[in-house]
Amino acid sequence: MNPFSTLGIRHDIVNAITDLGFENPTPIQEQSIPVLLSGSNDFVGLAQTGTGKTAAFGLPLLELVDFEQNYPQALILCPTRELCLQITNDIKNYSKNLSNVNVVAVYGGASITDQLRQIKRGVQIVVATPGRMLDIINRKAIDFSKVRYVVLDEADEMLNMGFQEDIDVILSTTPNDKKTWLFSATMPAEVRRIAKKYMTDPHELTMGKQNTGNANIDHEYFIVRARDKYAAFKRIVDFNPEIFGIVFCRTKIETQEIAESLIKDGYNADSLHGDLSQQQRDKVMKRYRERSLQLLIATDVAARGIDVNDVTHVINYSLPDEIENYTHRSGRTARAGKSGVSIAIINSKEVGKIRQIERVIGKKFTKIEVPSGFDVCEKQLFALIHRVHNVEVNEAQIESYIPRIMADFAELTKEEVIKRFASLEFNRFLDYYKNAPDLNAPQQDDRFSERGERVPRAGRAANSDYTRLFINLGSVDDFTRGDMLGFICNNAKISGKAIGKIDLKGVYTFFEVENSVAETVQQNFKSVDFKGRDVRIELAGDRDGGGREGGGGSRERRSSGSSGSRERSGGYRDFSGKRRDDRGGSSSRSSGGDRERRKRF
Ligand code: AMP
Repeated sequence: MNPFSTLGIRHDIVNAITDLGFENPTPIQEQSIPVLLSGSNDFVGLAQTGTGKTAAFGLPLLELVDFEQNYPQALILCPTRELCLQITNDIKNYSKNLSNVNVVAVYGGASITDQLRQIKRGVQIVVATPGRMLDIINRKAIDFSKVRYVVLDEADEMLNMGFQEDIDVILSTTPNDKKTWLFSATMPAEVRRIAKKYMTDPHELTMGKQNTGNANIDHEYFIVRARDKYAAFKRIVDFNPEIFGIVFCRTKIETQEIAESLIKDGYNADSLHGDLSQQQRDKVMKRYRERSLQLLIATDVAARGIDVNDVTHVINYSLPDEIENYTHRSGRTARAGKSGVSIAIINSKEVGKIRQIERVIGKKFTKIEVPSGFDVCEKQLFALIHRVHNVEVNEAQIESYIPRIMADFAELTKEEVIKRFASLEFNRFLDYYKNAPDLNAPQQDDRFSERGERVPRAGRAANSDYTRLFINLGSVDDFTRGDMLGFICNNAKISGKAIGKIDLKGVYTFFEVENSVAETVQQNFKSVDFKGRDVRIELAGDRDGGGREGGGGSRERRSSGSSGSRERSGGYRDFSGKRRDDRGGSSSRSSGGDRERRKRF
């Protein structure tokens, strides 16, 4: 029997695809056709192009659509006109021995009149790019109220091309009980989100070679002193609020200890090592798969073969003894086309080992600095804001409480309410990190960043395309750096992102702005006053001889290895995330200013 017949494809279609040279199903077809033929599942398939995925959804559609009826029953959305034409053509080829099959290709850049005419004649399968489809919907030229299947092909590409909103509108015209089949080569967070939004409990399949995603792994290392390792590790975790990671240790004892410390410190963590019984290991793995655990602390042996697809970070708390094991470890992330990060926390003597690993994996590591306490607080704050933004509101449940809640907040402005909500969780991090020291190991120079490039901090690339400006307001005017940032943004009408270092002094301040907005800042400040005083903005070079005394040289000083500022924990980040060491003022004033800014955050 023909293998496609075995999968449930009718004779006429099998004959047609045999003519196309399809003798055996490709792996994706083999796995998805039986599932899709049942017609009862939503479906997510991770598949690259060229794997035969058009037939994987096209053949089941031909089995499920009722060609006796001449109204739209299936809608296939894809990102490009080329793909649209190709899918249409393929489906026509597969169905050449069937009667009454009407497939229409709807795409931009071609006559809409022809497409409208074809639709009017009656179609069962519409293959479309989102823009043109929406156009036709807006003309009320198509009725999707009886659509039973929607295919989102190359969903990642459609999102990349900005079709999210169009897709939303198009899908809102289809019935709620249709089945949605989503195909994507990669599964970034946005695709996950639409999968979640449009589907119920989808059947998920990953096609092709697992972990072809090695190119999708970023390798990073942090250099810390041995005694700071655990604290640095926690900071890295805190800096990644959505982390779902596997942490590798060298020994069972280390694994156990780290897991216990993490649990004690309030993290969702547990250990996996050879001293656990099979039952205990299964239990840990079950919790990890279900995401009740955020961090799995494991030895190499115990973690071998762990096959969890959404791991965001692999952390080498200790580097493996065998370099080959690094590949096994890092391969736990970036699976199934996703991207991931593999991190090594090392001491300065281990840099040579990183170079060895680079040779084995054929990829460079990036040296990253341990985020400062301020970086972590900022990251956590915005993660919280993001969660608030995206939280699903259960209107029915909360409705009856709303009048009381509103009454409770009646006295507060919207801004005050927001501040209080944000502070609920944020204060915890502020308290913990308020005196957080720099955890980066001191180095003589940046000899390890070969090629002489500047080392990025906490994921941000160093960028020196700034102009340094002077303003005649400072801390005596009751400005904190945060206040100053706001003051500059508001009056210069620029985004905070365009502002670099802010070096707050007593009666004046130096600050950096991106070169492209330097002129705008000076112009827009011309008519600004502060409590009746003229505000002056000037190029700082005219004032401080190009940064001789101010913080402009702080980066150079810091990398010269002085640990003084680090030890007294006067080092901090300003709002641009750049390290500063405020030599301009006394250390007590510096940290006092920092505290002040946090209080007002
Ligand atoms: P697709 O990923 O759908 O673009 O398919 C990639 C190529 O593989 C196309 O040229 C298809 O015609 C071809 N193809 C798909 N399925 C099979 C099969 N079972 N046997 C041989 N060729 C196939």
